[in-house]
Amino acid sequence: MNVYVFDIDNTISNSFPSLIDRKKTIPIFRLITETYRVLRLPFFKNMVFIVKNRIKRKNSIVFFLSARHPLLWLPTYLSLIYRIGFINPRNLILVRNTLKKIKVFELLNDMFKNRKIRVIDDLSYNHENGEIKYYEKVISFCVKNKSIIYFDKKVIDKINKDVKR
Ligand SMILES: [Mg+2]
Repeated sequence: MNVYVFDIDNTISNSFPSLIDRKKTIPIFRLITETYRVLRLPFFKNMVFIVKNRIKRKNSIVFFLSARHPLLWLPTYLSLIYRIGFINPRNLILVRNTLKKIKVFELLNDMFKNRKIRVIDDLSYNHENGEIKYYEKVISFCVKNKSIIYFDKKVIDKINKDVKR
């Protein structure tokens, strides 16, 4: 069994351009504009190909793990179905913030004992402001954890280079 955990934003979807003009609005409108934004996100062709391929394989299980508001679960799920095809709803996990991904990785390590978990996640932010920052704590957790094989932003960008839609 091969276990994959794909991040969504800036890993399989080209999210940062849509964040540039994101306005601070009152929460209810914000939810509506965020839903609309999530549904319209363009995905990276090459990464989508890789994800679909892994889903098709018999001995693999693919999870999607994203730091998004829980109310965005449905639009996120719909966008994945539209871009990737059917996925088990249980395999889409949203966390409130990126640090909470560590907890999910620990749970998956428990669930899939003696299996390596492949994590494909840029773990970066602030692209929209021109200076990329990294979630160092989560990255170092992934790098140090012997049950995790971590694919970082460098690898992800190489896969996605020039191929946007
Ligand atoms: Mg990301």
